[in-house]
Parts: sequence; structure tokens; C-alpha cells
Amino acid sequence: MGRLAQTEGLTEIQDEILKTIHQFVEDKIIPAAQELEHSDTYPQEIIDGLKELGVFGLTIPEEYGGLGESLLTYALVVEEIARGWMSVSGVINTHFIVAYLLMQHGTDEQKQRYLPRMATGEVRGAFSMSEPALGSDVSAVSTKATRLEDGSYSITGQKMWLTNGASSTLVALLTKTDEGAESVYQNMTTFLVEKEAGFGETAQGVTVPGKLEKMGYKGVETTELILEDHKIAAEQILGGEPGKGFFQMMDGVEVGRVNVAARACGLAIRGFELGVAYAQQRKTFGKVIADHQAILFRIAEMATKVETIHTMMVRAARLKDTGRRMDVEAGMAKMLASEYANEVVEDSFRIHGGYGYSKEYEIERLMREVKFMLIGEGTSDIQKMIIGRSLLKDYKL
Ligand SMILES: Cc1cc2nc3c(=O)[nH]c(=O)nc-3n(C[C@H](O)[C@H](O)[C@H](O)COP(=O)(O)OP(=O)(O)OC[C@H]3O[C@@H](n4cnc5c(N)ncnc54)[C@H](O)[C@@H]3O)c2cc1C
Repeated sequence: MGRLAQTEGLTEIQDEILKTIHQFVEDKIIPAAQELEHSDTYPQEIIDGLKELGVFGLTIPEEYGGLGESLLTYALVVEEIARGWMSVSGVINTHFIVAYLLMQHGTDEQKQRYLPRMATGEVRGAFSMSEPALGSDVSAVSTKATRLEDGSYSITGQKMWLTNGASSTLVALLTKTDEGAESVYQNMTTFLVEKEAGFGETAQGVTVPGKLEKMGYKGVETTELILEDHKIAAEQILGGEPGKGFFQMMDGVEVGRVNVAARACGLAIRGFELGVAYAQQRKTFGKVIADHQAILFRIAEMATKVETIHTMMVRAARLKDTGRRMDVEAGMAKMLASEYANEVVEDSFRIHGGYGYSKEYEIERLMREVKFMLIGEGTSDIQKMIIGRSLLKDYKL
């Protein structure tokens, strides 16, 4: 796009990857998005194309068959894809988080077993913390993994809101376990649950009941997951040791926040593009509406918001890539990107007048999709808690 949301200091390889993805979005995603979204159809051809481009293995190290790229490259790719259609970025997001969890916390055997097949997209990941009675408050997890006499575990419980719940074959699943620790946070364990793709009983004691009907974010399925005495080997504990699940999942959610910020940036960029184009075509009172100062100012504000959130998102990703702390920066980027994207898309919607309410116009879809940015990987209230608490420690009197 024009001069907005540019990123300084990228390597030649990063530039090349982004050009390729941009072209793919222009040729394959944008022309197909409206129809697939309105009919809630899984974008299989697009996903096959992304597999061929290596996107499923973008951040997976080369030794496991991936491209070994940074979080920044990933985030910029996600921004491009979400600009075309946010749902497609949802297909790769949980996969990326599960790959990240394996890379950071998996045993050597787990890495060998899953990462090469995740890099090709043959194994696809889903990430499952939420339950019907919990989202923000992860300490309330009730799905229980009970240790059996032979050392294996039995998992029973109900999980909610699994993005890619049906298409995935590997679920990083947070459970409660009895580790005898005083803190609830040390009595949680992440399991790597293998299952078949599809609906119904997809593994022994693992059922994916059906697709949840959503306001937007269509095409990609979001499901429940029912576990009834699902028997699982202790080797399927992420990292091999119980009691670490909460900390592992929070680590995954932190990079997930940069990813949601990137998706929000993509939606804001597209919202801006649609608004600025429409403003130069529609005439009222004898001139194009861009020549009314109210619209001009709106365009200026939208562009400023796009620049701000892109910059914050890039900074958070770069901090992570250089091994520095980014809890505050990822929280800020996620919070502001989702709030600003929401405002930019709404401004674009207003610029469209009545046509913005028509399903024929892309902005109608963006209006529904952008709402999810306010919720996924923690609401703005939760980001404020993370940012505020962390800063109180840093600025302690
Ligand atoms: C389409 C979709 C896809 C999803 N995909 C996944 C997925 O793949 N994996 C997964 O695990 N989860 C997923 N989720 C779940 C998502 O992460 C949660 O919905 C989100 O974290 C919010 O939790 P909640 O819905 O339980 O809201 P609640 O936690 O019940 O919050 C309700 C309201 O209370 C506010 N609130 C809560 N606690 C506080 C507090 N302490 N202080 C101030 N305000 C507070 C919240 O900000 C919110 O406004 C998905 C959700 C949706 C809608």
C-alpha cells in the first residue's frame, strides 16, 4: 500500500517474502474473500496455496524443515494476510502458537515428532485454554487430567472456542492436574492431544461437536471440544513435566498478542484503503466527499492510527526477536491495535454512508471481523491489567 505501514530495516529475504505474500493476497485472497465469507466456506484453495509458499513453517527452524524466520516476519505476513481476509490469518495463528510452544518448551522428541510435519502443514495445530466458564480467568480451568496407575493420564472436561478445532490434528490443551502445589498456577499442565481432522469422535474420548455460529470470522471454524476419559501418555505432556502448563500457555499467548495486533493492523489498513478510495468517488453537494473537511480529517485520523499501531506492533515483535522482555509492549500493541482498528474500520464504514451497510461492500465484512480483535488473546481490560501490573513493578517506589 502507498506510504503507510512501511517497515524500515528489513532484510532482503523479508522483503522478498512480503512481496510474495502481498501478491498472493491480491491475486488469491481478496478476489475470493467476499463469497467465501458470506457462505461461511473453508478457504481450502487459499490454505493449499499458503502451504506451498511455506507459511505454515515460516517460524519453524530450518533443521525441522521450516523457513526459520523471525516473529517480525511472521507478524508482517499476518498483517498482509489479514488485510486480504482476517479469517485466513486465523487459520495459521493457532498453528503458529502451537509450533512456538513446541520450539520453546517441547522435549527434543516432541520437536522431532511434530515440527517437521507442522512445517509442511501436514500436522495442524489448535490452542485450547478457554472453557464455557472461563476465558480471561485461566486459573478457573476445570478440565481435569488424572494420573493413572500406569503413569498415563485420563482427561475429562469441556473446552470452548477452539479456532481450527476441526481442521487441526494436534491440540495444545490446558488442564488442571494435582501437583500438590499451593498455587493454582502450578497445578496446571499442557497436553499435546492428537486427533483426526473433522467433526464427531476424532480420537478415543475426544469429540468435536460442530461449528459455533459466529458474527464474523467466518470460513475458519471455531468449535467446542469434549473430552471424556481420554487416555493419554505422559510423554504427551508439553516439555515432559506436569505443573508448567499455565506458564507455557501464557508464553504462547504473549506472542499471540503480537499476532492479533498484526491482524488488527491488516484490518485497519484495508479499512483505510476502502475508505480513502470511496471518499474520492462519491459525490455530495457538487464535490467528491473527500473534499469536505469532515471527511478529509477523518482520513487523516485513520491514517495516523494505522501508522501508530503498525509501529507499536513492529516494535513488540522486534523486542521478542532480540530476546528482550515484551510483556508490556505486546499488551500495549494488542490493546491499541484492536481499539484503533475498530475505530478506523468504523470511520471507513461511516465514509461509505448507506452502502457500508450493504453486504456487497467489503467494509460490511470488516465491521464484523474487527470486533473479534477486541476479544482474542485477551480483552482490552485484561491487557490493561497486564500492562499496569508490570509497570507498577518497574516503577515501584
Ligand atoms: C471467535 C473466537 C475464537 C476464539 N478462539 C480461541 C482459541 O482458539 N483458543 C482459546 O483458548 N480461546 C479462544 N477464544 C476465547 C477467547 O480467548 C475468550 O473469549 C477471551 O479471552 C475472553 O474470555 P471470555 O469470553 O470468557 O470473557 P470473560 O473473561 O467472561 O470476560 C467478560 C468481560 O469481563 C471483562 N473482565 C473479565 N475479567 C476482568 C477483570 N479482572 N477486570 C476487568 N474486566 C474483566 C472482560 O474484559 C470482558 O469485557 C476465542 C473466542 C472467540 C470469540
